[in-house]
Amino acid sequence: KAKEKGKNQYALCSSEMKEDIRNKMILKNSLFRALEREELLVYYQPQVHLPEAKIIGMEALLRWKHPELGMVSPAVFIPIAEQSGIINTIGEWVLKTACRQNKIWQEKGYPPVRMSVNISVNQLRNPNIVGQIANVLQETGLQPKYLELEITEGSAINEANIIQVLNDFKKLGITISIDDFGTEYSSLNRLKNLPIDRLKMDMHFVHGIEKDEKDRAITKVIINLAKNLDLEVIAEGVETEKQVQFLSQNMCDEVQGYYFYRPMPAEEIEELLRKPCANIL
Ligand code: C2E
Ligand code: MG
Ligand code: MG
Ligand code: MG
Repeated sequence: KAKEKGKNQYALCSSEMKEDIRNKMILKNSLFRALEREELLVYYQPQVHLPEAKIIGMEALLRWKHPELGMVSPAVFIPIAEQSGIINTIGEWVLKTACRQNKIWQEKGYPPVRMSVNISVNQLRNPNIVGQIANVLQETGLQPKYLELEITEGSAINEANIIQVLNDFKKLGITISIDDFGTEYSSLNRLKNLPIDRLKMDMHFVHGIEKDEKDRAITKVIINLAKNLDLEVIAEGVETEKQVQFLSQNMCDEVQGYYFYRPMPAEEIEELLRKPCANIL
């Protein structure tokens, strides 16, 4: 009986694995065509400056409307794009789309905001990345100070050539933020040598603020670390008023999350920008 059960489990596991591999293959193949077919789009999520209670930036978040599978999460397809190398093409498209959009808003007369774009370590390894970004800025006419790159903290950002690339970005005049800060390799000694402007505190700590004393402690430590290193700090995944209060009391510069706004298509952001800047807190 046990053997039979074991067999069944094996069969189950194996067909699930096959299914998983098959789905990944489908995604990988259709990802190559998604751009041409205009299935990819960029959503924007506002970032709020706490002391002034105003929108100061946007994060560009990629969306994929797959014809059969519906909305596919970037958490699913970005790793596939990274493995297959197509992240370079897609990443360039996101950069161009987000920079162009930001420039359009400025031309329409809305108060200028920073545009944060997520960038994979694979893209940083592309030898043309600095030229590519310089081109995007030139083509779209966006001033470099209105572009920020979000880099996920990981062992790779400490490679000498990647630090060089980050220094080249700084020379272009764009800013850099470390995404998901606190969850990956955070050697403080390495952090001190990175040419960065902002720490983006991982939402894991933010979500623990109300129920976990240790998360409150870590949240404070990250804010103070940023201050002491002369960096700005933003908290992501802010969902409740209590979280906002705590972050505000502890001098967190900026916040982003569903409590304020969800990621939205450009047209919805524009409606928001059109409203007189009321006190949003
Ligand atoms: P991330 O850069 O850390 O982005 C934050 C994620 O949290 C986004 O998920 C956002 O929609 C979600 N989020 C925002 N506010 C809240 C909140 O209050 N609560 C909760 N629970 N979640 C919130 P999303 O859009 O699914 O993106 C997932 C990840 O995919 C991103 O994490 C980023 O690492 C990656 N990604 C998205 N767009 C791009 C892109 O254009 N290029 C690259 N390389 N990666 C991207
Ligand atoms: Mg991000
Ligand atoms: Mg990230
Ligand atoms: Mg993050």
